[in-house]
Parts: sequence; C-alpha cells; structure tokens
Amino acid sequence: MQKIIAANWKMYKTRQEARETAAAVAAALSGQPSPHEVIVFAPFTAIADVAAAFAGSQALTGAQDVWPAVEGAFTGEISPRMLQDAGAAWVLTGHSERRHVLDESDELVGRKTAFALEQGLKAMLCIGETLEEREAGRLEAVLQRQLETGLPVGDGPLEGRFAVAYEPVWAIGTGKVAGPGEVLEAHAAVRRLLCGRLGDSGHRIPILYGGSVKPANAGTLIGLDNVDGLLIGGASLDAQSFVQIIRA
Ligand code: PEP
Repeated sequence: MQKIIAANWKMYKTRQEARETAAAVAAALSGQPSPHEVIVFAPFTAIADVAAAFAGSQALTGAQDVWPAVEGAFTGEISPRMLQDAGAAWVLTGHSERRHVLDESDELVGRKTAFALEQGLKAMLCIGETLEEREAGRLEAVLQRQLETGLPVGDGPLEGRFAVAYEPVWAIGTGKVAGPGEVLEAHAAVRRLLCGRLGDSGHRIPILYGGSVKPANAGTLIGLDNVDGLLIGGASLDAQSFVQIIRA
C-alpha cells in the first residue's frame, strides 16, 4: 500500500504564506518525486492557493473540516461541493482539536465522514485517546467507539478513498511522541477493528500516525508495522522540515 505523508496546517498561514510554502514543497517534489502520497490539509481560505501551487505536482490538497449538507442555512460552515470547487480532494474529520476544543461528538464526526465520502471527497478520520483514557486502560475501547461511530458503512468500498489517522491526544502539539511500543499496540488495535468491521479490505485502509512527528523521528515511525503514513502538524508548517519528513 502506498504510504501517505500529510500536513495539517491548522489555523496558520495567510494565503501568501500558504502559496510560498506549497510552491516550495511542489518544487522539491518536482526535483525528486516521492514514492508516498503527499497531502496538505490547508485552512479554508488557502485551499485554492495551495491547489494552484500543486497543479501539475504529485501533491494533493485537503480541507480540515466539512459540514454534512449539500447547502443551506448553516452559517459559518462549508460544504463538500465548496471544498471541491476550491480544489480539495481530501478532508480531515474528527481531528482531536475539533473533538476536544470544539466539542464535536462521535456522532457528528460520523455524519461528516459519511457525507464527505458520499459527495466524492476522500476522508481521513482522526481518532485517539486522551492521557486519562490511556491511563485508565481504555485505549482499545476508545478507539473502537470512535471507529464504530466514525466509520462509514454501506457506501461502497472504502479502499483508495478513506484513511484513519491515529493521533493520541496527549502527543499532539506537545512534543511528546508516542514510543514505538505504544504506536505498534494502537495501530495493531486499529487494524483489528478495521478488519472486524470491513473484512479483508480492512488490511488495505491506510492507518497514519500523528503526534509530534519531526524529521528526526519520522524514519523510525514510518518503518513500524501497520504505520501506513504520518500526519504532521507543527513540523509541516515549514516546507523544508515537511520535505525532510517526506524523504525520511
Ligand atoms: C496534528 O495536528 O494532527 C498533529 C499531529 O500536530 P503535531 O504534529 O503538531 O503534534
């Protein structure tokens, strides 16, 4: 399975800054193409700029959220069609900052994921436990609940248009990366849960790791069993550091 290296730019970068970073990533990839799929999840205002900078390059553009409706009276929200019109191919759903800072429920994350897929976007569902949940021995139960409510079923095969990002909440933006044992354990659990739900095709759904990935630890993480990619926040804001991770 092709690995995925994805950047989450969160609420950073003006359009000009996004254009410059995306152009630097595209230039690096044109000099030395990557065997991995490369995606940048940009802020809404910069999606069209990033997509334009990536035109003709191997990198794809994604959005960080979506609302599960075609259109309507949803002030402040954005539809799959608007994202596609701006140039997004992918969308993140259930990022831990949306779950824990913006109080998004498992149920809403599930509706967003299913609707995005139904409308032709590719979806990357983010799941992960808090430190409290891990310390209470509830890792697998939390992953199971988030996957069961977040995983769309009955809308055709998911291979090639769906991915899971395992991001322990305690490792996001904290500088605390999960150790290899913790990553192996969690990814094996996600793989088991995916196969339990989807049968054999669960083996072909990419599982990305996210949480304080840096150029220095990316090589080790990407080499672990069941780690099919990396989702990078802070270290993806700088083109050079993101490209170093792509090459790790
Ligand atoms: C993220 O935003 O998904 C993330 C993993 O952030 P960071 O790499 O900064 O921990």
